[in-house]
Amino acid sequence: TPLTIAIDGPSGSGKSSVSKEVARRLGLAYLDTGAMYRAATWWCLREGVDLADADSVTAVVDTMPLSQSVDPDNQVIRMDDVDITEIIRESSISTKVSQVATNLEVRDILRALQRSRIDAERNGGFSGGNGIVAEGRDITTVVAPDADARILLTASEEARLARRAKDVHGTADAAAVEATKDEVLRRDADDSTVSQFQVASDGVITIDSSDLDFEQTVRAVLAAIEQ
Ligand code: C5P
Repeated sequence: TPLTIAIDGPSGSGKSSVSKEVARRLGLAYLDTGAMYRAATWWCLREGVDLADADSVTAVVDTMPLSQSVDPDNQVIRMDDVDITEIIRESSISTKVSQVATNLEVRDILRALQRSRIDAERNGGFSGGNGIVAEGRDITTVVAPDADARILLTASEEARLARRAKDVHGTADAAAVEATKDEVLRRDADDSTVSQFQVASDGVITIDSSDLDFEQTVRAVLAAIEQ
């Protein structure tokens, strides 16, 4: 029977790399929903839309030519034939994405896409019907509240800032941490206004990875799935 695994968490919680590895080990597809909000933001900027103009943003996102692979070993995001896999990680996108993601109509559009992607993997798709790990901010609560396993991956602010600094700057020294601090904390605060991912909802298993290394975190998630 197909599996749907829902994983939420704030930025720097390690949820992308952990979710990807869990998908690999279980032979599941992997859906990075944050990449969809990032892609939508990139597309709005490319189309010259004022991000404060909610109606125009919605209209442009509704027709965006997005394609996204769900292969955990080969994540490729395209808009038409432009490969935007790397560019959507840049801070020019990270600092603006919450503005698009707090648009409730945009959320409806992307959630519908996410649900159809989950259904496709339960019925075939890349995983051949094995299922999917979907990761984001509202997967356990709104997108897939009936998932087979629902996990909130958290970490202390200190651990999250260090991980994010390493991702972006390649080091977690004091300067790098300081440089990422504003972006991470402001993004989490903005995102919290529309998604509840700071505290686990009923029935969601919390895993705090502050004192766990990567392998330990992956194992904790696998154990939670087996429960
Ligand atoms: O996970 P990642 O940092 O790539 O997510 C980028 C942004 O996408 C988040 O800061 C948030 O604004 C938005 N997002 C969301 N709901 C999700 C996943 C991401 O609002 N399920």
